[in-house]
Amino acid sequence: MNYEILVNKENPIDIKYLKEIIEPSLVEIEFTRDNDDIFEDYNMKEKKIYLEKETAKAWYQLKHFLVNQGIEFDICSGFLSLENQQYKCNSFLNRNGIEMTKKRMCLPWYSEHHTGLAIDCDYFKNDDWAGICSDDNPETKYIHSILHNFGFILRYPKHKQEVTGMQYEPWHIRYVGKEMARKLYEENLTLEEYYKKRKIK
Ligand SMILES: [Zn+2]
Repeated sequence: MNYEILVNKENPIDIKYLKEIIEPSLVEIEFTRDNDDIFEDYNMKEKKIYLEKETAKAWYQLKHFLVNQGIEFDICSGFLSLENQQYKCNSFLNRNGIEMTKKRMCLPWYSEHHTGLAIDCDYFKNDDWAGICSDDNPETKYIHSILHNFGFILRYPKHKQEVTGMQYEPWHIRYVGKEMARKLYEENLTLEEYYKKRKIK
């Protein structure tokens, strides 16, 4: 498994890699949060969440670490099939039109969730599962500051929207392995910048 894989609006997932490497490596993830709305959004009838197996291990470590500190932290979504992303894009398009869809959605093939390495996560605060959406909550900053210890990066940071081509997503984290996560965190680099730098060298 290539934990440094780059999937973004310019780099689609490779179908052979998806079928032969990613899909066989997926494991089912336990969760307690009610994710019915999200499952419905993606037309995920079996209501299960899957992640690549090393990502799954790292996820449980991160989750248990935070839960032990009293943060009710859980997963909202993980691996998405091409069909799931297509369904979500179609319904978003019907509701919001083409311009908004281009800006806000990743088309099928171009979503990082096809890798099994991406997670949308959140924590429960003030009677709601949207704690992580607010930067005013100290927990959000704290979670973002420890992700690298578990091999994750905040994939679409606030001040890198031009670089990633994605709006700020405080909930979207990506497994890259501990060494790489530490490097990106310390050097304040996105995956796009890392690849660009590597190309220049
Ligand atoms: Zn996401």
